[in-house]
Amino acid sequence: MAYVISDDCIACGTCIDECPVGAISEGDKYSINPDMCTECGTCAEACPTEAIHPGA
Ligand code: SF4
Ligand code: SF4
Repeated sequence: MAYVISDDCIACGTCIDECPVGAISEGDKYSINPDMCTECGTCAEACPTEAIHPGA
């Protein structure tokens, strides 16, 4: 399953530059394209609010 971004996202923009495949999109809450995410976990480690988690 792709990683997902929760409502804890504060739209800081940190994760978008960390994703090696460009799967993250900007917004009021950032989002991850599940068809592109390779589940590498890099974005989750970079997020200051721990808003990114592996999908269930
Ligand atoms: S887990 Fe990896 S591939 Fe998926 S959105 Fe995060 S940085 Fe990108
Ligand atoms: S790093 Fe976390 S808080 Fe910042 S934009 Fe990404 S998901 Fe949102």
